[in-house]
Amino acid sequence: TALLQGQFAVITGAASKRGLGKATARLFADHGATVAILDLDEAAAKQAAADLGPQHLGMACNVTDLQGVQQVIDRLIEEWGRIDILVNNAGITQPLKIMDIAPQNYDAVLDVNLRGTLYCSQAVIPHMRARKQGRIVNLSSVSAQRGGGIFGGPHYSAAKAGVLGLTKAMARELAPDNVRVNAICPGFIATDITGGLLTPEMLDSIKAGIPMGRPGTAEDVAGCALFLASDLSAYVTGSEVDVNGGSLI
Ligand code: NAD
Repeated sequence: TALLQGQFAVITGAASKRGLGKATARLFADHGATVAILDLDEAAAKQAAADLGPQHLGMACNVTDLQGVQQVIDRLIEEWGRIDILVNNAGITQPLKIMDIAPQNYDAVLDVNLRGTLYCSQAVIPHMRARKQGRIVNLSSVSAQRGGGIFGGPHYSAAKAGVLGLTKAMARELAPDNVRVNAICPGFIATDITGGLLTPEMLDSIKAGIPMGRPGTAEDVAGCALFLASDLSAYVTGSEVDVNGGSLI
């Protein structure tokens, strides 16, 4: 059965070809949702939306730009009348060691991952509250839980740990209005963000740390996002769901 029939979903950072956002958009559309793909590059966002089908929208949006985010969300509300689901997926990482993090590195990583999650959430919350229905899914990371990994620096761990705090605080505040907020903590997933950075030896050592013996796929994460965005998770809020092949066992 279609789990999101007739629902409207916004997914940030969903234009990246092999990305988690795009796979999530695909799965949501397959389950009957109409999707807006927001990303930095307008042409890429429009193409990603067109790949899903004619009713879906692609729009340029920098999640760190408060006014820009508000304008895009306002336009979507005008067009659709409502937003049921927000997936805060836009993210960047930088593989730096602690002493190599310059102020501008810290700003960039905190801005996209953490500030962007705040701004996009603030833009949709009044509408969700008014309708007494909404689901927000935030992308955190195993890097937040275990203090880094292969490809994220300490500032990335800090940003993604911040996302967990924000998720729980928003979940608590919005629960009375039937707006659920949850986070996904992906482990090592094979996408563009990770793909370029690895040697075969590194890949082997990563696999050795994963009880299931393989990296995750974008579809593995999308399935969890579908669960958290649908009524299957009707009584789940404020949780962090691990999608990591057992990496933290
Ligand atoms: P990706 O690089 O493939 O996609 C990220 C997208 O975000 C890109 O399309 C990029 O253009 C967009 N983006 C960057 N800055 C933006 C901004 N300011 N405004 C709007 N869009 C912006 O990454 P991915 O691997 O698909 O990761 C998706 C999310 O999952 C990220 O938040 C990432 O940190 C998180 N994550 C990924 C992994 C992994 O192994 N791939 C693991 C844990 C968490």
